[in-house]
Amino acid sequence: MNIVVLVKQVPEIALIKVDRAANQVVLPQGPGTVNPFDEYAVEEALRIKENHGGKVTVMSVGSERTESALRACLALGVDDACLLCDEKFDGSDQQAVARILAAGLKKLGEYDLVLAGKQAIDSDSAQVPAAVAANLDLPQSMFVKKFESISGSTATVHRTTEDGFDVVELTLPAVVSVVKEINEPRLPSLKGKMTAKKKEIVRWNAADLELDGSDIGANSKTRVIKVSPPPPRPKGEMIEGETPEEIAAKLFDKLRENQII
Ligand SMILES: Cc1cc2nc3c(=O)[nH]c(=O)nc-3n(C[C@H](O)[C@H](O)[C@H](O)COP(=O)(O)OP(=O)(O)OC[C@H]3O[C@@H](n4cnc5c(N)ncnc54)[C@H](O)[C@@H]3O)c2cc1C
Repeated sequence: MNIVVLVKQVPEIALIKVDRAANQVVLPQGPGTVNPFDEYAVEEALRIKENHGGKVTVMSVGSERTESALRACLALGVDDACLLCDEKFDGSDQQAVARILAAGLKKLGEYDLVLAGKQAIDSDSAQVPAAVAANLDLPQSMFVKKFESISGSTATVHRTTEDGFDVVELTLPAVVSVVKEINEPRLPSLKGKMTAKKKEIVRWNAADLELDGSDIGANSKTRVIKVSPPPPRPKGEMIEGETPEEIAAKLFDKLRENQII
């Protein structure tokens, strides 16, 4: 079972600022981290490999700085890493990133499963995995919380819905995005960190992927019209009372008043 995990490097979220005057999100400098949801995808890939054999490759569209995120995955036991990096990729919107990843997957060749996080914690659009599947004309299941079984060329997964989950059977190869309920990611060992330092990372640019730049990078179709930070949270209300019972009763009345219960 050969699995490719799509991994995005994201900035430290607490350091992101919004420049209202320039209508821009200002990202902090520095190496950043692996998108937290992608850590669950890596962990699930490693568990599937442990049960079914094969290998795990991580793939990312990013810059030279993204190497550190890929090495963090290699330290966990991932076999190979592939960085898709070119100036022509700068300015790519979600659909363009998906096209670049699809081209990377085509070049990589044989894979049975593509795993991704449910969303990136910076741009937050949850579009890329489904768009990758669409580009490759592969079956897809998003927001998966459990792999029930994998046998032959079929995987059965539990896909999270608003009121529970659907059991979905997928013909492999397929693209699956995962939610954090799926597992508990492992930590890297010292040996894993040492091995990861020496591993070669495959790098492919636009020419390697036979992308001419006409529908990626600056030629993306999305235009950002406005960027604004979320409104500040209203201050919480303290409920006073002599006893816990009195406070609970007041809280109950408030919830009733506001038709919350
Ligand atoms: C007009 C426009 C211009 C932009 N220009 C730039 C730019 O110049 N530089 C820039 O960094 N961003 C740029 N962005 C943002 C960039 O398009 C998104 O960060 C990217 O497409 C991923 O979208 P997302 O973060 O919403 O991912 P989601 O769709 O929320 O991610 C879901 C999952 O997809 C996978 N995934 C997402 N992105 C990647 C990736 N890069 N590599 C591997 N796997 C991935 C991960 O598994 C992730 O958990 C631009 C966006 C727009 C709209």
